[in-house]
Amino acid sequence: MTITQDASFCIDLHCHSTASDGALSPEDLISRAAEQGVTHLALTDHDTIVGLSEARAAAERSGMSLIPGTELSCVWRSHTIHIVGLDFDPRSETFLKAMETQHANRWGRARAIADKLSKVGVDDLLDKATTAANGDVPGRPHFARVLVNEGVVKDINQAFKRYLGQGKPGDVKAFWPELEDIVQWIVDAGGIAVLAHPRKYKLTATKLRALVSDFKRAGGRAMEVSTSGQSSGDLGFLAELCRREELLASQGSDFHFPGSPWCELGRIMKMPDGVEPVWHHFKQPVGLPERA
Ligand code: MN
Ligand code: MN
Ligand code: MN
Repeated sequence: MTITQDASFCIDLHCHSTASDGALSPEDLISRAAEQGVTHLALTDHDTIVGLSEARAAAERSGMSLIPGTELSCVWRSHTIHIVGLDFDPRSETFLKAMETQHANRWGRARAIADKLSKVGVDDLLDKATTAANGDVPGRPHFARVLVNEGVVKDINQAFKRYLGQGKPGDVKAFWPELEDIVQWIVDAGGIAVLAHPRKYKLTATKLRALVSDFKRAGGRAMEVSTSGQSSGDLGFLAELCRREELLASQGSDFHFPGSPWCELGRIMKMPDGVEPVWHHFKQPVGLPERA
């Protein structure tokens, strides 16, 4: 099947608001997306859907289609993998329970990081990191900022090098559910599970194939082919992988904050021909040619 891409759509299925680690409120994010000409957007905050209702109201005002979304962290063979869930029912009981679990997991991880770093001698480290995260669950960047502010290290880089980077005491991973569980949550809520930014995990080709195969076995149906900051070589590689594995192809900027020229809402490299877009399989398909 050959796909002709309709120039009247601008589809971005991966971005973040202040509901997770993005800089713009859901409402401001929608405004910016509208300015950029985005017609179909999925807000995919990390491990939460609390931004969706504000985003939905704003999207309705600006005539944009909002597809329910989230980006869930999980574990696969000791790697942290991100799975984007799209077009699920955000009111599904099981899904809301799952979101609570993810939230608790984030706090569990934050507490564990604070425990592991208790030896560096910063009083009330978890509280300070929480403040750095504007009252939300702190992640490693927030801990890093506190370590800088408290004079433990001279900058963020050093904070990661000594305390928070891979293999360092504050590198806490083990709190996420398994890949299979995450995919199941999305499927049970009527959504499509998408393997996010497959190049970002820096897996060998063999391992990436193993990941894709486990993901498919669990019920995963799509992968991101076009994301920000990719070379055209990456794009070709992922399109080929997507075709070979018979997955649906997704695209998204992974926008977090304004001001980086290489990452803007709706500004994504054109999807290569010959892949089947995931948006053709939404409950309300986007851009499907009229069938005779
Ligand atoms: Mn993020
Ligand atoms: Mn991600
Ligand atoms: Mn993301």
